[in-house]
Amino acid sequence: MIGEEEIAGHDTVDQVVRLTKEPLIIGITTNNFGSTQLDSPKDVRHNNELLRMLNADYWVKMRAKHSDRIVFVTKDINDYHDCDALVFCLRNSHQKPLGLANTADCSIVIIYDRFRTCFALVHSGWKGSLLNIVGKTVTAIESELKIKAMALNAYIWPGICKYDYQVGKEFVNHFHKHVYFADSILKLDQKAVITDQLIQAGLDSARIKSSSLCSFHTIYKELSLFHSYRRDNQYYTGPLRESHNKRRNCVFVTPDVI
Ligand SMILES: [Zn+2]
Repeated sequence: MIGEEEIAGHDTVDQVVRLTKEPLIIGITTNNFGSTQLDSPKDVRHNNELLRMLNADYWVKMRAKHSDRIVFVTKDINDYHDCDALVFCLRNSHQKPLGLANTADCSIVIIYDRFRTCFALVHSGWKGSLLNIVGKTVTAIESELKIKAMALNAYIWPGICKYDYQVGKEFVNHFHKHVYFADSILKLDQKAVITDQLIQAGLDSARIKSSSLCSFHTIYKELSLFHSYRRDNQYYTGPLRESHNKRRNCVFVTPDVI
């Protein structure tokens, strides 16, 4: 247990971190769960194992593009969507969906309401943050599903933390409020950027939570807990770097009951 997060191993899904005390089951695993590039039969099999483990009826996975494209899921079938926000409306369906999104250092933001009317997975790295993908998703939920932003909650899953996220000087223009120097190295507080955007979109700050874990530095049982694109690029070269660069963590979300 780390804060509100529970770390558990599982035969089929490797390491699982599951968030407690929410109306949704929200977790992250170090398995790829359907590579966004390859869609190999093995990856699809892993998706189906997770589906069974969580008693979900179907899965929908985001193929992130660092864009501001938002997709409202309308069909209860296994599917992939090229987008950076996936919104599930649970009002008129008795099927239990499983939402999936891969990440290596970018934050995945879960937006949901307490009454399990809807939930969304939003991929917000620096490019998505520059496009305000989280703010646009909140606005889209308000207009499409008639749910007020004040009634929404958000949870920010581990991306890279503000101590490890080194950035170039162009970031001063992009995110001037949330960059800072530490030992002459410019760094970005991605979590603060996203939190600000959620508040700007109308969320109550008391309803925004974030993970205490970091994709780059969190160690569990003497090993790095997550894959990290930046960390692996620092430590590996050649073919080993190439194979590590394909590895992702997969965030999953499903209602606890339906
Ligand atoms: Zn860190």
